[in-house]
Amino acid sequence: MRRAVIRASLLIVLMAGVYAVAAQQAQKAPTEKPQKIADGVWFEQHNDIGKFGSNVSWIEFSDYVAVVDTAFPLGAEEAIRNIKATTNNKPIRYAFLTHYHGDHALGTGVFDKEGTTIVSHENARREYLGRNVEGYLKTAEKDPVYAKYKPVAPSLTFSDKLILDDGKRRAEVYYFGHAHTTGCIFIYLPHEKLVFTGDSCVNGPFNYAGDADTASWIDVLTQVQTLDVEKVVPAHGAVAGRELLQTQKQYFIELRAQVAAMLAQGKTLEQIKADVDVPMWKQWTGEQKMSLENIASVYRDLTRGPLNWATGDLDFGKRTPIAIPMEKGKGVPLKFLISSITPEDRAALEQVAPNVEIVLAKDKEEALRLAPEVDACAGTFVSPEFIRAAKKLRWVQQFSAGVEQVVGVPELQSDDRIVLTNMKTMFGPPIADHVMGMLLSLHRSLPHYQGLMKDGTWGKGEQAPFQGELLGKTMLVVGLGGNGAETARRAHAFGMRVFATDPKDMAVPAFVARLEKPDKLNMLLPAADVVVLAAPLTPDTQALFGAERFALMKDGAFLINIARGKMVDTNALAAALQSKKLRGAGLDVTEPEPLPSDHALWKMPNVIVTPHVSGQSPGTRARTRQLFIENVRRFASGEGLLNAVDKRAGY
Ligand SMILES: [Zn+2]
Repeated sequence: MRRAVIRASLLIVLMAGVYAVAAQQAQKAPTEKPQKIADGVWFEQHNDIGKFGSNVSWIEFSDYVAVVDTAFPLGAEEAIRNIKATTNNKPIRYAFLTHYHGDHALGTGVFDKEGTTIVSHENARREYLGRNVEGYLKTAEKDPVYAKYKPVAPSLTFSDKLILDDGKRRAEVYYFGHAHTTGCIFIYLPHEKLVFTGDSCVNGPFNYAGDADTASWIDVLTQVQTLDVEKVVPAHGAVAGRELLQTQKQYFIELRAQVAAMLAQGKTLEQIKADVDVPMWKQWTGEQKMSLENIASVYRDLTRGPLNWATGDLDFGKRTPIAIPMEKGKGVPLKFLISSITPEDRAALEQVAPNVEIVLAKDKEEALRLAPEVDACAGTFVSPEFIRAAKKLRWVQQFSAGVEQVVGVPELQSDDRIVLTNMKTMFGPPIADHVMGMLLSLHRSLPHYQGLMKDGTWGKGEQAPFQGELLGKTMLVVGLGGNGAETARRAHAFGMRVFATDPKDMAVPAFVARLEKPDKLNMLLPAADVVVLAAPLTPDTQALFGAERFALMKDGAFLINIARGKMVDTNALAAALQSKKLRGAGLDVTEPEPLPSDHALWKMPNVIVTPHVSGQSPGTRARTRQLFIENVRRFASGEGLLNAVDKRAGY
């Protein structure tokens, strides 16, 4: 139900959030008796959510039981007693978390003691691991039931679909996209025509959209509606018919339409909160007032653009906010130094960060003069003198993904008060498109045919430089950050096997077959048909590819560099191409830049050179703008900043 459940003070936060629910249901028993909703399928409704947590359901297979949601420890203990009683003590083999929120997932420790495997979508596991369990531990100090168990993370995850079928019973578990959270799943029983919806379809006033994408949520429900379903089993509220799916969907459709119309009239969030009125929701939930929290969530969805900052759509949750402790708390006057700003951006910043004054400096000299008074600045101004003079400086926003020039300034690197943020992952989509474009061009000899077009030549009989295919080939992505991951995702979709190296500890995405630390690079190189450089330039990656590494590569392999020219020894690359060791190369970056006009690489038909433009697109401009505005807003209110850079690692 609520993200806050796992964080902060567990019960206090939770009780505030469900106060209305508790009041409405005070006359009901905290838990309804288990209800048989189909042969071998049971449903236990928890009305006292603050104590028991979400509803719990279970499905009886021939040899085992699968559970839907684990509730809070008290709810889990009770559910396990009832599961044993209703299934003749069958082992509880699986517990599905419909998503990671605490009221569904904090009972995992109780099931773990039963030997149950906790199953979730891969995003839900990531989200689970990303939340600290401090709130749980605090509650455990006072509550003996909590103290007995430690919640456990899902150990079995999937990306699209998972099926349990023992010949008698079949459960199809689906992921349809970002709904109530990024990792919400639906458990569908096709024979029983029944679907468990978690919090993506609830029955009553339990809707919470704080971690949602309400547009995508509607799409997800549309997909669920394609299933042959007669019964909908929500994680909060009572079991209902399939019309509940439409009711839940309609709420967000009408809420979004109203908020969008009011935004178009120029209304503020406060005005919108006062004016929104969705009668069908009031009728459905019995509530007298609209949920202001959900109005704010929809407002956020309609104003934040296509990216979901909260969940890091592009970077596997690595966009961890770093809290900046503001001395006087939020709202103090602050100055941000930048070289130029459009009127639109200035207006947007005034709206979200009225206490931040935008100060312009046309060059480094002027910046140096203004340095003592600024609290934050663009990366372009960073120099040793500037940092020494900028005594109040707490934040530097770099407008590129690479920060090699900024972190090279020792005064910045060693000053822990100054947070550096960059634009990593913002350029990923067009850069990954560019990589695939180069790869396809080289494999399908498109430049060759483009040449023939000039003379109107139908060159079917002519020998094209290369007629290859990507299916079954191996791509090695060096650096699985924003650009590398987006490239890997696309390569996987083309039927390639993707290997990657990256120094960070991270979950292996489903589209990567093998992820190793950089020290395994030489081991993976001989297996790769295509090597894509997507790492940041650091002392470790400087001149990473020279004659020795080219010699290790497979004969006839391709090299694509969209990272930094300095990572490749240009002459060694030219030699490897001339000797046909490498079949081709795609270079968006070179060393030096620009590539001298008489350089041998320009003349090679198996090389595509583009002038460091792979990151450019309207999408990139929109994303970087949004991130900048969001970071200024966060800075202004003393919240953690997005896209913080590890200054010592250099990315
Ligand atoms: Zn939830």
